[in-house]
Amino acid sequence: MPSKTFVKFPVIDKHNNFETFVPVGIVEGQNPGPTLAVIGAVHATEYAAHDGVARFWESLDPTELSGKVYVVLAADVMALCSHTQYTNPIDGKNLNRVWPGKADGTLTEVIAYTITQEVISQADYVIDSHGGEFDEAIDLFIITHKAGQPDLDQKTLDFALALGFPFVEVTDAYGTVLGSGTGAAEAVKSGRPAVTLEAGGRGLREERHISAVYNSLQNALKFLGIKPGQPVPWAGQSIKLNHGVILKTTQLGLYQPAVTVGDWIEKDAVFARVLDFDGRLLEEIRVPEAGVVLDVISARGIKANAFAGKIGVV
Ligand SMILES: [Zn+2]
Repeated sequence: MPSKTFVKFPVIDKHNNFETFVPVGIVEGQNPGPTLAVIGAVHATEYAAHDGVARFWESLDPTELSGKVYVVLAADVMALCSHTQYTNPIDGKNLNRVWPGKADGTLTEVIAYTITQEVISQADYVIDSHGGEFDEAIDLFIITHKAGQPDLDQKTLDFALALGFPFVEVTDAYGTVLGSGTGAAEAVKSGRPAVTLEAGGRGLREERHISAVYNSLQNALKFLGIKPGQPVPWAGQSIKLNHGVILKTTQLGLYQPAVTVGDWIEKDAVFARVLDFDGRLLEEIRVPEAGVVLDVISARGIKANAFAGKIGVV
């Protein structure tokens, strides 16, 4: 029987004596078919990414579908409702660094474990919906991972390109950057094609980013045959990036980006400056290669050795 149900899975942190829940929507389609898992609100202030997942959940009609769809409507409820960027307010851990989680860990680890058991392990394909946090500007790109298994890696890349985002970055599922502990990388390591969507940022809830997430999730349903139809290249042909370059500060001070997301930046050009509090220049952060600006910190101050942004090299 086709059905659309909403479940709150309990999550208990015995170390901090704290209990919360993970809200999950589950849609069982009219006919048999594959299972897609969509995870929203791993990070608290990535609002457009959350809104796109919520709109997707509302749109799902079980009588139109073949297969099953799990939608984690808010992975980290406590971070979301406390407006806590990057980390969970109870144990201070980053949910996107602790996958696949621990049954007897602290809150963030138990959240990851619960979603892994109840959702990811039931799924054939996984999409984790992110964006920039409150202090971070992002337009649209996808991160996915190579596990070193040709069949799986090809399926993962085909899936990522079908979603329709303008840029797809492929990183190493076992690498030190966005590899170990991230939701998509750990899902790929467990044999499931998985991607991380990055849409919007700065706490904004812009229609461009919300509809991008919604459209890409609809494309996922069509690509997998859960819903009839072909994926729509709503942003044109996706470009597969050769690699990403993360830029970091060396000085603490006032942060002044010299670029905005979507800009093209030439090799050795200035990406951002760090100033002392009297306005004197402390450093210029330059890019080692030409590329497209994917991510820029938009906060006024910044620490030394902090993430300043990222470019994608074509
Ligand atoms: Zn995130």
